[in-house]
Amino acid sequence: MIEDRSILVTGGAGFIGSHLVDRLVESNRVAVLDNFSSGKREFLEDHLTDPNFSLIEADLLDQKAVEAALEDKDLVFHLAANPDVRIGAEDTRTHLDQNIVATYNLLESMRKKRVAEIAFTSTSTVYGEAEVVPTPEDYGPLLPISLYGASKLACEALISAFCSTFDMGAWIFRFANIVGERGTHGVIVDFIKKLEKDPKNLEILGSGRQRKSYLLVDDCVDAMIFSLAHSQDRVNVFNIGSADSVDVTEIADVVVEKMGLEEVRYGYTGGIEGRGWRGDVKTMLLSIEAIEELGWTPRFNSRQSIEAATEALLDRR
Ligand code: NAD
Repeated sequence: MIEDRSILVTGGAGFIGSHLVDRLVESNRVAVLDNFSSGKREFLEDHLTDPNFSLIEADLLDQKAVEAALEDKDLVFHLAANPDVRIGAEDTRTHLDQNIVATYNLLESMRKKRVAEIAFTSTSTVYGEAEVVPTPEDYGPLLPISLYGASKLACEALISAFCSTFDMGAWIFRFANIVGERGTHGVIVDFIKKLEKDPKNLEILGSGRQRKSYLLVDDCVDAMIFSLAHSQDRVNVFNIGSADSVDVTEIADVVVEKMGLEEVRYGYTGGIEGRGWRGDVKTMLLSIEAIEELGWTPRFNSRQSIEAATEALLDRR
């Protein structure tokens, strides 16, 4: 439980951020800073008239705006980022600016404004193609295969260094694939859009055998809040995911079934070594022992998370 804090949520108008805000506003003062590059005002509309909530439309690259947003805050949840792994294969600058420089700006502003605690949403992609699966937090060396993964690893390093140098504290969460209502990107959204256009054929990127772990967004938010309340190291690093994985073809089967479709023809693009795109990690399953030892456990496995997310996304359309 997090209570009576004054919190800034960067990227709070996004998919995961808006679910986090739903929970935090119940017992805290919450400000969201978002540039609405992928976030949506409608995700926050229930809170716009709440006196404990405020919305700041600004970019993390605007340091003055970030400093102003940090006034009187004592905790930051930093979710704003460009989360699109695929972009990095065509444009090598976006993740550098939107993830690394943006995170540096935030940390530097926190230092100046003496805001001492940050919770950061990192990713399983920092592990690259790990040889140990399920992959624990202390696995190494960390050799990402996407520019996105590299940028998040750089952010983790900056956060750790700021914490040691300037007496700050951090929680770093390495997420599996997070799915659910308000999702705007990712495999389920992609399949729904494609099947709405053509209910007879579905293009599947890669071999369809890429096998990864999925977690429902409600569980993800629970895990973040739980670990903040139950761990106090200077830098706390936790994997957040479910305890199993599913492959892409199984996800296609779930989406087809939930959309009430039959006899859909799957066409696999094959890709390089069966990857969906350059930088796609083919096998991802995180060890969640560390957070389970704290006392948190996911309610849903990967298949159940995919099913619940597909239903929620279809309901909203
Ligand atoms: P999202 O795109 O829905 O949310 C990102 C939010 O940040 C958006 O509202 C966007 O408008 C905002 N934003 C982006 N750049 C900004 C900037 N320069 N200044 C201000 N606001 C900016 O993505 P999401 O899926 O909700 O992801 C949230 C976080 O979790 C990201 O850091 C992402 O890397 C991380 N993550 C997500 C997943 C997943 O499966 N969704 C997995 C691993 C990690």
